[in-house]
Amino acid sequence: MTHTCDAIVVGAGLNGAATAFFLARKGIGRIVIVDSGMVGAGASGAAVGLLRSHYDNRPETELAVKSLTFFRNWHEAVGGDCGWMPTGFFRFVEPEEISKMEANVAVQRALGETVQILDISEARRIAPQFSFNGIGAVVYEPGSGTADNHEATVSMLRRACAHGAELWPFTRATAIEVEAGRVTGLMTDRGRIASPLIVLAAGLGSKDLAALCGIKLPLVEKTIRVAEILPPETVQLSVSYMDPVSDSWITPRCQGRAIVAVPPAHAADSVAEFSRTDAERSLPPVARRLPGIENSIVVRWWARADCYAPDGKPLIGGIDGVDGLFINTAGAGKGHKVAPAAGMALSELIVDSKATIADITPFCLTRFDAELRPWSDTEYSKRVIG
Ligand SMILES: Cc1cc2nc3c(=O)[nH]c(=O)nc-3n(C[C@H](O)[C@H](O)[C@H](O)COP(=O)(O)OP(=O)(O)OC[C@H]3O[C@@H](n4cnc5c(N)ncnc54)[C@H](O)[C@@H]3O)c2cc1C
Repeated sequence: MTHTCDAIVVGAGLNGAATAFFLARKGIGRIVIVDSGMVGAGASGAAVGLLRSHYDNRPETELAVKSLTFFRNWHEAVGGDCGWMPTGFFRFVEPEEISKMEANVAVQRALGETVQILDISEARRIAPQFSFNGIGAVVYEPGSGTADNHEATVSMLRRACAHGAELWPFTRATAIEVEAGRVTGLMTDRGRIASPLIVLAAGLGSKDLAALCGIKLPLVEKTIRVAEILPPETVQLSVSYMDPVSDSWITPRCQGRAIVAVPPAHAADSVAEFSRTDAERSLPPVARRLPGIENSIVVRWWARADCYAPDGKPLIGGIDGVDGLFINTAGAGKGHKVAPAAGMALSELIVDSKATIADITPFCLTRFDAELRPWSDTEYSKRVIG
């Protein structure tokens, strides 16, 4: 039997949930959200939730700054709870990158975010427990924090459903129907759904679906490994940080716990081989910044794949050549922190033909038609995942 609706969102992760929520709030009509698994089956069910807005290009900074306002005011802006926990955030910067940092902070400030540039003695006053060896300056975001990605996803979905959307878990999308260059419906393992509009927010699943109608999405999966630790009480964890020098980050969670990155395993490792010994390899890089943390107890650890575009930036917008087909994916290990603004911007593009909350034109698929260029003159030479 064919079900009929006005919009289908494929994927009930945070990007799909946010897109569905904002489309529903705009009154687009009947929305069906399908997911082949349960809610949180993808990266959204495994994310750490480190939120910050310091990037080295304006488009991502804008999405992150605008999204932070949702996370901080979730109850009013969305409804429900996203597990927001204010922590503040340090981005360590190497001495040779300070002029780039100043330009990148200027972009954050122009977008309305409160950001401080700290020299080492100022940073030490705020966080005396840190070792600042090899660091030239610190970007300090006092208003950043963490949120629970699963809570945020469930909350967005609940609010979307409160605005009339229907959630169909355990419903796999198998093909997109296109007639005369226009979307007409979605085939699923629970039957056909007729709709003039489909948003692909299915992570790597978006690639296979798009390929079936002749569209090549340059997406790959990469596995991210993290560990939850219980630091000794002598280590005071006051802020999240990201550090290109030790290639580490940490984000505090409630009850004194924290989450850290586990260094990538060699290529032959599978997720199943992710042992406690592997997880404990997370501690030495963090101990370079937080001496004493090597004595933490590793409480649990996990790995999950996220979807990446070749330049590590999101893919958000319409798909040329197929009217009614849109995409919102490629979180690239950092898709949680930009999802609210990305979802709102895409809903504006779909309903009003123009995104106003943030400029998402740089995230279009057609950027891959030409040779990839730097996203700004102030890109850092070394990246930290997240
Ligand atoms: C371990 C880990 C830690 C992370 N930490 C952070 C962090 O600290 N900060 C941050 O900002 N980001 C972080 N991220 C990244 C962030 O979690 C992701 O970028 C984001 O959650 C992606 O959301 P999504 O909705 O695009 O995709 P997903 O959450 O992957 O959702 C895609 C959904 O599509 C469904 N699907 C796939 N194919 C089909 C199909 N054919 N039919 C129907 N449904 C389909 C899947 O079941 C899945 O539920 C982390 C990611 C991981 C894995």
